[in-house]
Amino acid sequence: MKFCFQDSLKNKFIKLQTQVEKEIAPIIDRINHISQSNHRKVLKAFQDVRVSDYHFYGSTGYGYNDLGRDTLEELYANVFGAEDALVRNQITCGTHAIYTALFSVLRPGDEILFVTGKPYDTLQRFLEPFFPGSLAEWGIRSNVLDLTSGEYPDFDALANALTPKTRMVGIQRSCGYQRRPAVNIQTIGALIRAIKSYNENIICFVDNCYGEFVEEKEPPEVGADLTAGSLIKNPGGGLADGGGYLVGKSQLIKSAARYLTAPGLGKGVGSTPGGHRLIYQGLFMAPLIVAEALKGAVFAARYMQHLGFKVSPEYDAHRADLVQRIEIGSSKGILAFCKGIQNGSPVDAHFRPEPSKLPGYNDELVMAAGTFVQGSSIELSADAPLCPPYDVFLQGGLSQEYVKLALLKAVEMLYQEHLLPKFPASSKDYEQGGGA
Ligand SMILES: *Cc1c(COP(=O)(O)O)cnc(C)c1O
Repeated sequence: MKFCFQDSLKNKFIKLQTQVEKEIAPIIDRINHISQSNHRKVLKAFQDVRVSDYHFYGSTGYGYNDLGRDTLEELYANVFGAEDALVRNQITCGTHAIYTALFSVLRPGDEILFVTGKPYDTLQRFLEPFFPGSLAEWGIRSNVLDLTSGEYPDFDALANALTPKTRMVGIQRSCGYQRRPAVNIQTIGALIRAIKSYNENIICFVDNCYGEFVEEKEPPEVGADLTAGSLIKNPGGGLADGGGYLVGKSQLIKSAARYLTAPGLGKGVGSTPGGHRLIYQGLFMAPLIVAEALKGAVFAARYMQHLGFKVSPEYDAHRADLVQRIEIGSSKGILAFCKGIQNGSPVDAHFRPEPSKLPGYNDELVMAAGTFVQGSSIELSADAPLCPPYDVFLQGGLSQEYVKLALLKAVEMLYQEHLLPKFPASSKDYEQGGGA
């Protein structure tokens, strides 16, 4: 890659990379450990459900007797520790998978409580009282239980927030575009136990977007009744062309399938003319790709911290999702950073990302993503709402090396705009331990 830095400064940036790689080595080991456990789990599931190459071919029309599809769903259920799964290209995205989960369960008069604060931006329309198709239009009440000031689920307020009409509780694993930590799998388990002790019939739903394979367990393994996510995030392994999944209790998956198709049809229809191979292969690759993305995020956290930016999570913190927040602090900085990530991508590197309104989001958003699959955020992407506090959300990356290269490009753009709070210290300072 071509640098615009003067040679002496360029050397400092390169030395900083070596320094950071040393500092993060123990964290990389930790990621490898989790990744190995997930590799083992996925491999065993492929063997358990006896995947064969004829499962990769698709079907047309109604998709009756699509053995590849049915086996794929058995495979997902096995990997996630759930009774059953719905894995479909007819589920258009993560939002649609979540919508299917909610609306297949909730009926007029029911209540849903979101216990991890305001849900993700694209779900806001479901909650708006007057938006066509919203929960309210169907006579379903929704409430949000805010996180505590430390941004953790508010266990003390939980019992008061649940009511006899609460039919479903929503838990979001990832932080979304918020300044809060992701909810780790242990906390998800504790939340579910607390909810079930109030009323065991409440259906616990988890929005698992960006959370898959980051830890060693998945929500169904800690008691979630229904879990949903996107195939162009973690579980698609960067290969799946699109689609969404639900995993959970078999009765709930049956009703989700009835809702997605029609009563009387359910899971039995839905064709995939292009075949299933990329979804199978993507799931197989997912533990590796997620680990690469996490390693890239850990590198970015430490590197940017050395340059004077606040980051969250910190490089050595426990991670429960892929998202790395970097406090860039200005709209000019966001544009420069995102331009660098775009320029450092394999596809559309010659484009400059511009802020725009996207369906489902309130603020103008800048999105840098030079991806093979449109909008795929398991591939490297950087998004930022163009409003205070001007944080950038960096996630994904098919290899940690690509993340590093793109990040250095973004740093170069910030440097050009005089927006780096600090320059790399000289290597002598590091040797004396003064580089942090
Ligand atoms: C991405 C995401 C969604 C929505 O998924 P889309 O595929 O973009 O519709 C929902 N929740 C969280 C936490 C997400 O990260």
